[in-house]
Amino acid sequence: MAILVWIEQNDGQAVSNCWELLDKAKVLGQELGAEVAALLIGSDVDDSAQQAVAYGADHVYAAAAPHLAHFRLQPYAAIAEQAVARTDAVAFLTNASIRGGVLAATVACRRNAGIAANASDLWVEDGRLVAARTIYSGNIQARIQFESSLAVASVRPRSFPMPAPTDGSGSVDNLDVRTQEDDIRQKISDFRAADAGEVSLTDAHIIVSGGRGVAEDPQKGFELVGELASALGAALGASRAAVDAGYIPYKHQVGQTGKTVRPDLYIACGISGAIQHLAGMGNSKIIVAINKDADAPIFQRAKYGIVDDLFSAVPALTAEFRKRL
Ligand SMILES: Cc1cc2nc3c(=O)[nH]c(=O)nc-3n(C[C@H](O)[C@H](O)[C@H](O)COP(=O)(O)OP(=O)(O)OC[C@H]3O[C@@H](n4cnc5c(N)ncnc54)[C@H](O)[C@@H]3O)c2cc1C
Repeated sequence: MAILVWIEQNDGQAVSNCWELLDKAKVLGQELGAEVAALLIGSDVDDSAQQAVAYGADHVYAAAAPHLAHFRLQPYAAIAEQAVARTDAVAFLTNASIRGGVLAATVACRRNAGIAANASDLWVEDGRLVAARTIYSGNIQARIQFESSLAVASVRPRSFPMPAPTDGSGSVDNLDVRTQEDDIRQKISDFRAADAGEVSLTDAHIIVSGGRGVAEDPQKGFELVGELASALGAALGASRAAVDAGYIPYKHQVGQTGKTVRPDLYIACGISGAIQHLAGMGNSKIIVAINKDADAPIFQRAKYGIVDDLFSAVPALTAEFRKRL
């Protein structure tokens, strides 16, 4: 009996969110009396397999072949199903990326299993797995109980803390790869990077975000916030109000209906600190708030606060960081 975690890879590199998930699976596995198994699919998975052991997998199941280099649902789902059966999995967990979401849904359909898509928490109650996820545009936090023997969940990145690697003592087993290139209907002809040079929001150690506080001159405001981000090598975030107003695209949104982040440093510029924004960044290690209203709720969560106009405070900080870094 196992909790099986799919370790997503990008260009042969494991996506770090999967280690958070594997670590959580370890806790759940102890409560359920299940081992933790990691599933790796790709053309070269040796390094990621060793990492999976270091992050706590009791067993790694590896399927490696040149035609598996890039995610394609047909062969990946077939291998995931094979691994679910081989490990007698009680749970199949993936990162809630586009790939993880579609893989989880396909495995759930094929195994007639319940699924919690985009879950934000997992725990064990009365010997069964329970998941939390928001529904109705983030207005309700739902508790998902599984009635099927297999529970499937795709879990939002940064829902759990990043563990430290250990020496690990898990083993690596190979899975048979039964598909061949000719069997796969989906063909990949080209890859193009969408945002070359941009720091990924969910992976960033530092995030500088802007909110409706830039409204006086949104273009200038986000230019200033962006300059501070680039001086710090940080990712650029935003509140929903800023996104809804069209100041910045949705991919930058942090919060309940945006991305969940856990950076070491989060600098909120002109953001009030609404509960839905805090839901996405409240677990940041250090929060710095710049807001001209000393009573803004964000200051209750911030370790450092600057009560000032962001149009003067942000460029002053940027200039100082540029001098010192
Ligand atoms: C179902 C649902 C889901 C939601 N999901 C999200 C989500 O994912 N993420 C999210 O962020 N929100 C979300 N929201 C919206 C959320 O409730 C708030 O409306 C939003 O976070 C407010 O954004 P804001 O802080 O930028 O704007 P405001 O609340 O308007 O705050 C702007 C702040 O800027 C300050 N300010 C103004 N001018 C300046 C200046 N020149 N210098 C410095 N400070 C200044 C003001 O004092 C104020 O505190 C959601 C809401 C709902 C109902």
